[in-house]
Amino acid sequence: MNFSSKLLEDAVSEFGRLPGIGQKTALRLVLHLLNQPDTDIERFANALTKLKQDIKHCQVCYNIADEPVCRICSSPKRDKSIICVVEDTRDVMAIENTDQYHGVYHVLGGLISPMDGIGPSDLRIDSLLQRAQAGDAKEVILALSATMEGDTTIFYLHKKLMALPIQISTIARGISFGGELEYVDEVTLGRSIITRIPYERSTV
Ligand SMILES: [Zn+2]
Repeated sequence: MNFSSKLLEDAVSEFGRLPGIGQKTALRLVLHLLNQPDTDIERFANALTKLKQDIKHCQVCYNIADEPVCRICSSPKRDKSIICVVEDTRDVMAIENTDQYHGVYHVLGGLISPMDGIGPSDLRIDSLLQRAQAGDAKEVILALSATMEGDTTIFYLHKKLMALPIQISTIARGISFGGELEYVDEVTLGRSIITRIPYERSTV
């Protein structure tokens, strides 16, 4: 693309780095922004700057939060004895939208993927094991996607958790046909959380 302005080129190149955004779409978005009032652009830029500056990861579950401990972990209404392990914050949002789960979460921050060079030490697995070992944990639900990476991660976590006196469950594996929990409709996802099954049985 030949740009008439370096500023325009820089902005398009930044937008073009976002997932799913090609150069043409990036240009369309940037030109759209150029036509907006200054206050709108300022609000947009502020939201992005604050996003990185102010957003935290919950010290307990690593979900994205505004406070050091997220609203779910600090709520007296949530059952702290059940920990649902998910890949990222989108999965927490998907499960919360079902309104069917009242335990807490643990956000791994990814899945084990030797192909991408992601090993167990790159994920928040140690802190999960510490939480599972701490007194009140009774059940860990492995709610990871039905992909090879999801399966590998579940297998690894099960091996690490099986020595502990806790129930290890998974959600029905057939449901995440899209590969990711966020694509499953709320009713199906909600039902699969309620009817979760012990890990051993789910592998047969
Ligand atoms: Zn939390």
